[in-house]
Amino acid sequence: MINKVFAQTRGKLTLWYALVMGVILLFASGIFLKVVQDGQIQAVDHSLQTLVSTFAGQEGVEHLDERNFTLSKPHPDIREDFQQTSLAFARHYDNQGKLLWEREQKEEDDNKEAPVAVQGKPKLGFGTIEGGEERYRQLTVQTPEGILQIGLSLEEADVVFKKVLLGLLVTVPLLQGVIGLAAWLLAGRAMVPIRQSYERLQQFTADASHELRTPVATILTTAQSAVQTEQLTPQQSQAKFTAIVETAQRMGALTNDLLWLARADRLDAVEQPKLERCSLKTILSDLYEELAPQAEAKKLKFTCQLPETDPIVQGYEDQLYRLFTNLMVNAIKYTQPEGKVEIHLTQTINQAEIKVCDSGVGISAQHLPLLFERFYRVDESRTQSAGGTGLGLAIAKQIVETHQGEITVRSTPQVGSTFTVHLPIV
Ligand code: ADP
Repeated sequence: MINKVFAQTRGKLTLWYALVMGVILLFASGIFLKVVQDGQIQAVDHSLQTLVSTFAGQEGVEHLDERNFTLSKPHPDIREDFQQTSLAFARHYDNQGKLLWEREQKEEDDNKEAPVAVQGKPKLGFGTIEGGEERYRQLTVQTPEGILQIGLSLEEADVVFKKVLLGLLVTVPLLQGVIGLAAWLLAGRAMVPIRQSYERLQQFTADASHELRTPVATILTTAQSAVQTEQLTPQQSQAKFTAIVETAQRMGALTNDLLWLARADRLDAVEQPKLERCSLKTILSDLYEELAPQAEAKKLKFTCQLPETDPIVQGYEDQLYRLFTNLMVNAIKYTQPEGKVEIHLTQTINQAEIKVCDSGVGISAQHLPLLFERFYRVDESRTQSAGGTGLGLAIAKQIVETHQGEITVRSTPQVGSTFTVHLPIV
């Protein structure tokens, strides 16, 4: 089902991309054709101008007023030399528009016909006319002796234009095919992060329901066995209720963590609560005092080293409390009795470094890259009994990222772990 949705989305993306690129391609091809055609016509026009000027004498160019198409010098009668020119036709009218003479290029094997001369006074300037199977470009100028009209065939220009058009007709569909393929590949790449985040979400939901199902089952079986047992001794009922309370507590902690993560995801996307000035020294010493009894119960050597200065983080105090609680509680939890847990706070120019070191069970290298994933646990049985939710480090990472910081871990099994947090300070 979901694969179908992804495939459809990819198809749609491809189609849109190919469509937009196709329109751009067609538009560009049109412009290119127009430029080629205009260039050809301009070249022919230039030849016509040069020819008219040549007829009027060497320095004729200066005698042609290009705006009014008027030749200030009389033009010679070119009837004799006409065959030697490249002209397709030449005509001479008097000022009333009466055709005085006309010449056409005639070759023996050629049955083409020049366009027929129009009746009446011809319009001055350039023009394109159709004649037989060919197109012609003509130039009409006013001379002191009347009106001179000469024309050149556009055959060559049209051949070039047709070649370019043919080239485009072949390359444009080919290019469109390549674009379609590229679009398909690009759309595939664009889908990768979407698919990944979808799969992560699905995994998270599955993990969360699994995590919640286990304590519910525990509570249910414990309660059921209590109901079914006819006579419970006070010790037995005490044990059963304790088990139920502990499991319910774990469930409570888990739902709290889940809720927190869900809210953090949403906060990231929609609202940005106001930042506060948070004193790391205050947070760490508060937590140190709060957790000291737990450490003492395990006979741990628990120390906290704070600097003279007080590094201030622009952020959210409740989140920072949660971040360091998670790290410190883990350190205490995963260290055997009589081990060591140390907290260090140091400050550089623009950041604070917080280290939580323990001499605990450690984590082997293969688990380190996945440690901050939601619900990831190194040793399922051990941590279940330690009462963890598997979300503590995921939450810690999320908080550090919200504060534009960085969290890293170094660990050696049976030697200990060090979690290091870097936070930018004001
Ligand atoms: P949990 O609630 O299970 O402690 P966390 O996200 O806090 O979940 O930690 C994930 C896992 O990382 C833990 O299950 C534990 O295996 C491992 N871990 C975390 N902190 C330490 C530590 N200080 N020493 C050894 N292992 C640790």
